[in-house]
Amino acid sequence: MSTAHDGHRHIVSISGGKDSTALAIYLRDKLAKVEYVFSDTDKELPETYEYLDKLEAYLGQRIERLRSEHGFDHWLKIYGGYLPSARMRWCTKVLKIRPFEQHIGDDPVKMYIGIRADENRGGYRPTKPNIIPVYPFIEAGYGLDDIHRILDESGIGFPNYYSWRSRSGCTFCFYQQRQEWVGLKENHPKAFEEAKRYEKIDPDTGTRYTWSERESLEELERPERIAEIKAKAELSRNINRIESKKLLNILGQDDDEFVEPCSFCHF
Ligand code: SF4
Repeated sequence: MSTAHDGHRHIVSISGGKDSTALAIYLRDKLAKVEYVFSDTDKELPETYEYLDKLEAYLGQRIERLRSEHGFDHWLKIYGGYLPSARMRWCTKVLKIRPFEQHIGDDPVKMYIGIRADENRGGYRPTKPNIIPVYPFIEAGYGLDDIHRILDESGIGFPNYYSWRSRSGCTFCFYQQRQEWVGLKENHPKAFEEAKRYEKIDPDTGTRYTWSERESLEELERPERIAEIKAKAELSRNINRIESKKLLNILGQDDDEFVEPCSFCHF
């Protein structure tokens, strides 16, 4: 990784998750001049804002908060009331990527991204030629253990939502696993109710506008369903401990539980 200031702005885009936070810490003393940005959808978890504040204090530098000129509700109308999904991820485009790309304009930029060497996921594909993505953890061969070490040694630790949710991102992010929706209901009931209000089922056509294709949040929050989800999550944890993923395949799994997360929002 070149740390020379070669006519580029050096920018770390922080998602509010552990990997991009570890990257900001890792780069703090390696780059003479670095900017930190966070694309705020205004649908973030309170824990994310707390974590950003903590990181800002550690870095001794402001994390610039970027916002779309229009909020989620505006874009939902533009997209015909279709909630974003893994197949139609308009939210990332208009609420995360576009504000970032507007912020940098036509300046030559090196954008530092926290994807790890032990991950198998695609990087950010800039739509502008002046942005060069850089992957310092991949270059350094850093995996999850290194991220733990960086966060522990800095004293920043993990975001508080990690006790019930595995990834950063919006309160209603459709990448959540079912037990994470249950976690949202239990930890942030108002945000869960807000997510529910976005769901619609057309009584005439039966068309469902729900965060998850297979069940609405109203269906998910039935006490017997919550008990089932919790039991299944516990079983998965036990199986993972014993025999890893092979058994999960045998026992079966909800199709949309393990989808590749968004590389701009969740790292
Ligand atoms: S966190 Fe999820 S809902 Fe929010 S912008 Fe990213 S993909 Fe969309």
